[in-house]
Amino acid sequence: MLRLLRRRFGLLALVLVAASAPAAPRTEPPPRNLHEAIRRGFYSTDSKPLPGGPERVREFVERGADLEARDADGRTPYLLAASLGDAATMRLLAGRGARRDVTDTNGDTAFDLALAGRRGYALRLLIDEGWPLTSKHRFQFACYKIARAAGWLLPFLIGASFLAGRFLPRFYAHPPAIGRQPSGADQLPTLEPIKCGPCGGSVPLRLHGMRCPSCGTPATAPAEWKKTITLREKTAELLARAERLWERARLVSAAPVRLSLTLLALVLLVLVGIGLFSRLGDSLFAVRLSTAFVGASAFLGGLSLVAALLGYAFYLGEVQSILPVPVAAPAETTTTAQCTTCAGGIEHRGRALSTLCGYCGTENYRAALTGRELGVAHTEKGAAKVSLYEAMRQIVALRDKACTGLATAALVVGGLAVGALLVL
Ligand SMILES: [Zn+2]
Ligand SMILES: [Zn+2]
Repeated sequence: MLRLLRRRFGLLALVLVAASAPAAPRTEPPPRNLHEAIRRGFYSTDSKPLPGGPERVREFVERGADLEARDADGRTPYLLAASLGDAATMRLLAGRGARRDVTDTNGDTAFDLALAGRRGYALRLLIDEGWPLTSKHRFQFACYKIARAAGWLLPFLIGASFLAGRFLPRFYAHPPAIGRQPSGADQLPTLEPIKCGPCGGSVPLRLHGMRCPSCGTPATAPAEWKKTITLREKTAELLARAERLWERARLVSAAPVRLSLTLLALVLLVLVGIGLFSRLGDSLFAVRLSTAFVGASAFLGGLSLVAALLGYAFYLGEVQSILPVPVAAPAETTTTAQCTTCAGGIEHRGRALSTLCGYCGTENYRAALTGRELGVAHTEKGAAKVSLYEAMRQIVALRDKACTGLATAALVVGGLAVGALLVL
């Protein structure tokens, strides 16, 4: 019954029968030949030699028993040991010159017999000694190694995820909220736009070196504006930082990146699944409890990795939906324009996509630059509500949420792993 169970559900059954003791050795007449010594000296269900078993086998070998003798199934002692999963006896026999490349009456090799009986130790020995694997078994063995790595990785993954989720939010900048009026202007005092005396053009507001962009005539702002201008210039710096962050976020959250992560997650799931549940992988994982625990951990680790990758792909999708889409790359030149809210002069510098108006604090986009802004501009002329700065604030808030989720998930998976350890 146990044997049958074990054969059907190797890994699980190992756990279930672990507590049950091996059959007690009965007082039997001594074995008549090497085959009988091997068969009676090893408890396959537990992959353990029985008391006195290895000694009796050694005795027969020392006394010069025929190492190529066949039993009723046409199995040599080596094939018999392989079918029982008795790796120590296999090693002993091979060391004395027993042939490894023989087959029984059914044409089964040592590898076939070990695999059919899910004999992990025997399989591992054969593989380690360079048994010529078919490409299918080579693939399954590679998957087994991946699953094992995932199993060992789990504790580190849990620790790292928890620490990252818990402490990462301290390390990235949280942009402060800038109150905005319905017009798009900020909550600071709105300043009357300065016009150029000689030509009447709009002059971009600046604390130092202010001059008309059309004719170059110097202009000065009233001294009492200094505080407001300084605050707006600080906000402008934050906006520039948000823009750099936005460029980076747009790249890493692009559809191909998300698709690759999703595919990677699915491929990983399949590989770990094959590594755990193919006959070869299952046999190798089912050899003893500590390995079975690595197997259970691999199962959790594989699933967690997949969940993490999928979660990250989902997070990137959310990020992408928050970000405005640029229609064309901005030119590398400085251009002047008028603020959409107050008509004051503004200056788009370098490759900047957006500029903060010094007079009223409105975030102004370069004309025809972002798809979203375009859409808004078409419906509500001149009152673009899309803000890069606000997009970045939303993304940072989303990242905070993702970190909290990550730390919680790490705790849950860690709890499951400890639970599995206790059950095993
Ligand atoms: Zn002028
Ligand atoms: Zn303005």
